[in-house]
Amino acid sequence: METAILKAAIAVLTISLTGCGNAKDESAVNQTETTSLTTQEIKIETETSAISAAETLTEAFTAPETQTNATETTENENIVKKSFSNYTIAIDAGHQSHGNSAQEPIGPGASETKAKVTGGTSGKASGLDEYELNLIISLKLKKLLEEKGYNVIMTRETNDVDISNSERAAIANSANANAFVRIHANGSDDPAVNGAMTICQTPSNPYNGYLYDESYSLAENILNSLTEETGAYREKIWETDTMSGINWATVPTTIVEVGYMSNREEDLKLANEEYQDKVALGIMKGIEKYLQVNE
Ligand SMILES: [Zn+2]
Repeated sequence: METAILKAAIAVLTISLTGCGNAKDESAVNQTETTSLTTQEIKIETETSAISAAETLTEAFTAPETQTNATETTENENIVKKSFSNYTIAIDAGHQSHGNSAQEPIGPGASETKAKVTGGTSGKASGLDEYELNLIISLKLKKLLEEKGYNVIMTRETNDVDISNSERAAIANSANANAFVRIHANGSDDPAVNGAMTICQTPSNPYNGYLYDESYSLAENILNSLTEETGAYREKIWETDTMSGINWATVPTTIVEVGYMSNREEDLKLANEEYQDKVALGIMKGIEKYLQVNE
């Protein structure tokens, strides 16, 4: 319990430290930080044994603002890296260059089956395949998270693989990931439909309904940050028990549908590198907000 609180304190304090350099939206960031810190401090007060450790951390993290000692700053940066390395984020770039229509149960012990993995959609205007776009965004997300010191597990880093959806979940499960984030892009018969959506299980999911609260929070925080960062329409959080890669997961999981490749305008945005950077940044911010609240 102490360790969990301490980890959370480190996360909150770390985020406030790294947020300092972000001049663009400093006022908004600072406001959020203050609120988070207050909540955290209230939590810590109830755990008397954790107070002294947390105070020490507070000193460590406030130090760089008031002094310029290079050695101490480096030490603090090491603390930052160390704290984030406590968190493991598993990323699944959805689909692969060739689908595999062999069947697998949609969840542990299920009689219903689905294709192991499908080929995904493709860009109507860009010509990009979904599996390619998913990997591009996933690798950008990996880079952003690793720069902050997170431990990142990838289900795939090339397109020419054959990994079923249940196998992808198993990778996240065995890493005991704090969050399993599955990157996809959407397609619709209606070319006007656009926007981002995230997906999680229902509370009554027979395989892992116990993960609903955390998965919903992960889905919600990512959808909020992603749409904020990109300006994409916030479609919805879709709760469904039909996704094998969610049903097989034993860690908090969400599918992020970053946008519609069937919508010409959104497809072309998604194929643009600057927009892809915003997508990855939005998802990372959502993961961090989720960790602040849930870890
Ligand atoms: Zn997909």
